[in-house]
Amino acid sequence: MGLRLFEQLKQCIAAVSASLKRTIEHSCAICGISIDITQPRLCDACLKVLPRVRSNQLQQLCLCCSEPIAAQTEHGRCGRCLRSPPAIDRLYSVYYYRAPIDRWITQFKFHQDLPLAKWFAEQLVQNLLPSATQNIDSLLAVPLHPARLRQRGFNQSELIAKQVAKMLALPAPRGRIQRIRATAAQSSLPRQRRRSNLRGAFKVQGPLGNHVVLIDDVYTTGSTVNEIARHLKRHGVQTVQAWVIAHATRKESPEASGST
Ligand SMILES: [Zn+2]
Ligand SMILES: [Zn+2]
Repeated sequence: MGLRLFEQLKQCIAAVSASLKRTIEHSCAICGISIDITQPRLCDACLKVLPRVRSNQLQQLCLCCSEPIAAQTEHGRCGRCLRSPPAIDRLYSVYYYRAPIDRWITQFKFHQDLPLAKWFAEQLVQNLLPSATQNIDSLLAVPLHPARLRQRGFNQSELIAKQVAKMLALPAPRGRIQRIRATAAQSSLPRQRRRSNLRGAFKVQGPLGNHVVLIDDVYTTGSTVNEIARHLKRHGVQTVQAWVIAHATRKESPEASGST
């Protein structure tokens, strides 16, 4: 009898400890190992290998496209952005769009994950210079076409924008930019055709203010944010920044990625 009671007690303790473990641990979003709930979404090993975008003594980043340029370049822009200035005035990107971030963002696109949106937003906010957040009138997410939104059920950029707006107490009005034409996936097109593919794809409506931030998950050639920035500027917006989680460098292959 005493032995049976002991076995029951043992099972009971095992069940309680398993459920306790579930509440104090979750799994790393990249490699899946169990981590403490107080940790961010990644284990220490995965956090260390994330491809963060950083300037150093030898190179700084082009203000408009984040391509590396020589540290002593005074104007802060790469040759391409000087020859043909993009419509956005400033790009802030936290990571390079490569493993394991690329796979992780793809997963995020197809599974609504609010804690992850919050984590991405935190990384983004920590990466901004204090001057970037001054005098912002609207924080706007790059929209999906309504058909795509219905299919996916949520807009990943909007999830991030909502969190960023909350953290920085900035206005994030919805519906100011609409995607009115479904376009071929940018990733399926050569670089030269990406801009024409987006012509007439967006509609912008006010009030927008003078200084706008566009939030997107990934920047590859920049054709999407620049097309929207051109529209915004035609509607009187003076400066447009793009804040993104990751960007593909020109030396890598943006054609291989799944975004714009
Ligand atoms: Zn991990
Ligand atoms: Zn540039």
